[in-house]
Amino acid sequence: MALAEFELIKRYFDTDALAFPRAGVVLGPGDDCALLEVPPGYNLALSIDTLNEGVHFPRDAGASALAQRCLRVNLSDLAAMGAEPLGFTLALSLPDVNERWLRDFSAGLSACARQFRCSLLGGDTTRGPLAITIQVHGLVSAGKALRRSGARVGDAIYVTGTLGDAALALPYLTQQPGFDLSALTAAQCAFLQAAFYQPEARVDAGRALLGLASAAIDVSDGLASDLGHILRASGNASTALGAIVDSTQLPVSTVFSSLIAPPERLPMALSGGDDYELCVTVPPQNEAPAQAAMKAMGLLFTRIGAVVAGSSGVRSDTTPDTFSGIMLNDGDGVLQPLKLSGYRHFGNNSNE
Ligand code: ADP
Ligand code: MG
Repeated sequence: MALAEFELIKRYFDTDALAFPRAGVVLGPGDDCALLEVPPGYNLALSIDTLNEGVHFPRDAGASALAQRCLRVNLSDLAAMGAEPLGFTLALSLPDVNERWLRDFSAGLSACARQFRCSLLGGDTTRGPLAITIQVHGLVSAGKALRRSGARVGDAIYVTGTLGDAALALPYLTQQPGFDLSALTAAQCAFLQAAFYQPEARVDAGRALLGLASAAIDVSDGLASDLGHILRASGNASTALGAIVDSTQLPVSTVFSSLIAPPERLPMALSGGDDYELCVTVPPQNEAPAQAAMKAMGLLFTRIGAVVAGSSGVRSDTTPDTFSGIMLNDGDGVLQPLKLSGYRHFGNNSNE
């Protein structure tokens, strides 16, 4: 994209609104590299995600909403490690130079960048099918990051926010037959748009749970799948880990309950992807302070189960097959093994 490439970057990306000065950013866009300062006693946390048109978002997605989603999805990975956002790089492949699209994209990106104090550090701009890659950089106290591997038998399992809303939104936003946005109220439409395009990215929650949670992951593929990652990462050759999840406790929104019939609620809450809530394990002695911290920030924080030992659980040296390692407790004490394969069609796990 030689023609006007630098002009385009100056106008839409290397702007005061996006590439704003921030402690820790020594040099932003314009040189061959950006420069960051990592203070003593901190680790630099990095994560990168690409979103491709038609695969990860609908072809007619609005540029501002899309920009928000791309940055938030990445910020959610920092949240899941308890890291504080510092800055991000942006690799943009554009089919053509559409100034209106670029203006909206830049505005959406800068609103989100400002909200999370995450400054644009640099990037790459090329011509090709629409694809957006963002790499976020954050800081976390050395050795303190929340990993997937810290869960232990007896820890409680919590999730932030509500589950299944983004999976509910997708068929409406892609106008699948039978999912008619015009049949919804304006408030329901706005809720579903936000659920998909503006996932919250629980950065403050992740940071507040440092030192309290034993393990964390952000829910991108669906709760069952992502909790399974924690169980596998935390188990070892001698101790397989499983989970008992209380199926009556899974937090769902009122929009979800009003649009989804009761028999479909559980499978969608368990396997719907793209919610970007946090799933964390908390040792018993930290439950009260963790609950208090989440309450102080007004965040729904629901205890959904506990980590258990079990020969039927999952170990780090086994690959997931049909059994997720998760037993569902339906409220009257009967435990049902959760088979991942039976739920997969509700998620969109195939694109990640
Ligand atoms: P190089 O050829 O050295 O890789 P580029 O010509 O790709 O440099 O980019 C020139 C400058 O513009 C670099 O500082 C780069 O970080 C910045 N840049 C390019 N594209 C973007 C973008 N989409 N957003 C922010 N900065 C960008
Ligand atoms: Mg380049």
